[in-house]
Amino acid sequence: MTVYLVGAGPGDPGLLTVRAAEVLAGADVVVHDRLAGSAVLDLAPATAERISVGKTPRGPSTPQEEINALLVAKGRAGLEVVRLKGGDPFVFARGGEEAAALAAGGVPFEIVPGITSAIAVPAYAGVPVTHRGLSTSFTVVTGHEDPWAATDTDWEAVARVGGTIVVLMGVATRAAIAERLIGGGLDPSTPVAAVTWGTRPEQRAVRTTLDQLAVAPVDAPAVLVIGAVAALDLAWFERRPLFGRSIQVTGGRDVADRLRLLGAAVIDTPAIELVDVTFDVPDLSSYDWVLFTSANAVNRFLPRLRDARALTPQVAAIGNATASALAHWHVVADCVATTATAEGLLDALPSPPARALLPRAEVARDALPDGLRARGWTVDVLPVYRTTSRPVVDAGADAITFLSSSAVEAFTGATDAVVACIGPVTAATARERGLHVVVESPAGDVDALLERLVDALRHRPDGRGASADS
Ligand code: SAH
Repeated sequence: MTVYLVGAGPGDPGLLTVRAAEVLAGADVVVHDRLAGSAVLDLAPATAERISVGKTPRGPSTPQEEINALLVAKGRAGLEVVRLKGGDPFVFARGGEEAAALAAGGVPFEIVPGITSAIAVPAYAGVPVTHRGLSTSFTVVTGHEDPWAATDTDWEAVARVGGTIVVLMGVATRAAIAERLIGGGLDPSTPVAAVTWGTRPEQRAVRTTLDQLAVAPVDAPAVLVIGAVAALDLAWFERRPLFGRSIQVTGGRDVADRLRLLGAAVIDTPAIELVDVTFDVPDLSSYDWVLFTSANAVNRFLPRLRDARALTPQVAAIGNATASALAHWHVVADCVATTATAEGLLDALPSPPARALLPRAEVARDALPDGLRARGWTVDVLPVYRTTSRPVVDAGADAITFLSSSAVEAFTGATDAVVACIGPVTAATARERGLHVVVESPAGDVDALLERLVDALRHRPDGRGASADS
């Protein structure tokens, strides 16, 4: 029974600490506020209780005393409790009060610091908070209280410190903050960078000067960076090729991850769910080949081998993705098709008749076994998993990706999004279904798919654009 006061970072799930991920994975209860993203919450077990304690600006929120009491009660009940906060738990997050309540209640607690938005959000906008020759210090201040009424913050003194000023919660009060800083001696032309929803796909940075800050269009939540460094523009995050784009993905974890790295906001709507089927591994010594047509088959079949040396036959993979799945199990494919289709694998295999085992999905195209049998091969098909599809509809993204015909078949309705398909078979299925395929790659070639998708979206300033050429 421990209560963990955990910083979740400013939004990008990659900025969560290793320790935070660890304690989330073991949580019985997660108490989180509004800024906690779902990708982070997903790290807690599905069975963990999730309690939202609001903290919407000027909206409903749970009083701090109630949150403290809740943490003490859950901790005393012997549960592993994660109190998840945006950024760092001790930076304008009332983590100190929660820790004090836990200490007073005799509940063991641990603090897991997080990456604060005060530093990370400027960094994602290409603004270093210190920079040789420009700034030797940074002051982090809350703008939450009315800067004219607040007795706590001596803004004139902050102005005199001379380094970078980072203001959190200062969007609503920015006019008064600017006025007091200028009154304290800051030059009205001091550069300002205001970064809204930093580190997230929605990030937007506004560059202005102190005397214009009041009228600059800035939405909350934002970090205001005031000082000479705010004129630096080492932009990188917003320059990624798919920044500002939303992409609906109907399957393929790898593709979703790679789209995120390219800067896209990914909407994950998996069309296919894999279900285990029970099977026995036959005596492999009676086969010349084991043929794999998907990474899914590899990942279900290989772990079932009791002794690795049982894999005496040669091993073939339909494409690079399947071959790398094999490599994870320390199996180097003897044969990899150059085009990742059944036909491609037929061409790649030697022609003298042989005996082959084909572990694969319960329902699949029969082009490969039929083609081999026509050449005199003996082929035993071994179902090692089953796919079930769930209906997918347009999610309003700029583009939608399909990695298989079955994913296309699960899609119902129309879409204006840029339709991107991997391989000619998937693309043909999409066209049969009346979709306008804008991006098509060779079979199994994820690199080409992403490259062509980036290209197609670059030429469509406003994304959703099948209508643009139809
Ligand atoms: N503990 C948090 C700060 C909580 S106060 C931390 O260490 O980051 C909430 C304020 O943080 C917001 O009003 C805003 O000023 C800032 N903030 C947090 N996340 C942000 C983000 N992703 N983009 C811009 N500002 C953010």
